[in-house]
Amino acid sequence: MTTGSARIGSSLKVAIIGAGVIGLGIAWRLAAKGAKVEVFDRGAAGSGASYAAAGMLAACCEAEPGEDALVALGRESQARWPAFAAELRSLTGVDVELRDEGTLVVALTADDQARIHHHLAHQKKLGLPLEWISAAETRRREPHLAGKLAGAVWSPQDHQVDNRKLATALRLAAEAAGAVVHEHKPVAEIAIAGGRTHGLVLADGTKVSADVVVLAAGAWSRGIAGVATEQRPPVRPIKGQMLALKMDPAAPLISHVIWAPGVYLVPRRDGRLIIGATVEEKAFDTTLTAGGLLTLLEAAWRTVPAIEELAIDEMWVGHRPGSRDDAPILGPGPAQGLIYATGHHRNGILLAPVTADAIAKLVLEGATEPAIRPFGIDRFAPPRAAE
Ligand SMILES: Cc1cc2nc3c(=O)[nH]c(=O)nc-3n(C[C@H](O)[C@H](O)[C@H](O)COP(=O)(O)OP(=O)(O)OC[C@H]3O[C@@H](n4cnc5c(N)ncnc54)[C@H](O)[C@@H]3O)c2cc1C
Repeated sequence: MTTGSARIGSSLKVAIIGAGVIGLGIAWRLAAKGAKVEVFDRGAAGSGASYAAAGMLAACCEAEPGEDALVALGRESQARWPAFAAELRSLTGVDVELRDEGTLVVALTADDQARIHHHLAHQKKLGLPLEWISAAETRRREPHLAGKLAGAVWSPQDHQVDNRKLATALRLAAEAAGAVVHEHKPVAEIAIAGGRTHGLVLADGTKVSADVVVLAAGAWSRGIAGVATEQRPPVRPIKGQMLALKMDPAAPLISHVIWAPGVYLVPRRDGRLIIGATVEEKAFDTTLTAGGLLTLLEAAWRTVPAIEELAIDEMWVGHRPGSRDDAPILGPGPAQGLIYATGHHRNGILLAPVTADAIAKLVLEGATEPAIRPFGIDRFAPPRAAE
């Protein structure tokens, strides 16, 4: 693949579509290495899924059968998180609140326990640092959990960050390195001629020239013209409703990230308690529904009954960029100079560091990091007919 390897440094022009954590992270890493970077967003930077997320870095708890390469990518990114957060803080002054209390996957009933143990057996085979703890030990760590409790899986390495602060920090870091972020500038088309990318066409008709184009438009990545429909990344929006309650920051009800049947609860330092999330195939629908919120609140209340006294702070909807196999699409697109960095589904916050590093390396050196090798768009190519 030809990317920037022939024109490394200040002469390389890169246009990035989408100013979420993925586009901004890549912009930061590229600009810091001397590339001339412009990022275009159809709205405000960081207002897509990156705003809506819960910020969990759940590489271990989320590990499911058939996702071994994705688990390895998640673990790789998880390992990069402490340095990534520290670097952002020293460059921008923004603390993205990487908290290290870990996660408890709580079983309320014997049925939950059996299901969780089934998962745990697979996760242990992958060598993930997860451990079953008794009901008494679970309650010792989180005294406000429900009266009836079977126990929990303790995940000491699945932490959380404040994803909204992350988007802010990444933007500041990218701009400090020289990248230009254009807000309210929708991209209509990727300009391709003679099999290579020449830049972008904005919705207002403005042409932007670039040597490399990175498509990082999250759930919207399929809607941008210029590439034949069958060669666009197979990404669709997966709707998620969430809400936040207000705890007393001096006496929060919980301190770990808690997963329970049908819900997760994520405590922030400012006292916000994030409760999520529904998983709905409703295209770009942005409706908050009584049923969606009732389901979340009921599941959260069964897990931590004391939430019933808390005030509601905020409710929102976001769209995960889900690919056909739930894994991201990272690597060369179907034209020279076109790179895909999309489809991060429910893990885009976790995967922001490894995506930023690996895509910057691919653009500047033409080198594919081993961790992203399994995630090219070619994995979706139809099988060749037998000869
Ligand atoms: C409810 C919910 C909970 C989640 N929880 C977690 C979690 O706990 N942990 C985790 O790791 N991940 C989580 N995720 C997933 C995570 O939010 C995403 O994977 C991640 O934010 C994807 O980042 P992105 O930059 O690719 O997409 P986005 O943040 O959506 O950014 C894409 C950007 O592209 C812009 N755009 C779209 N079309 C155009 C266009 N034509 N021209 C220019 N710009 C365009 C959009 O405006 C948007 O700003 C969650 C997601 C949701 C919805």
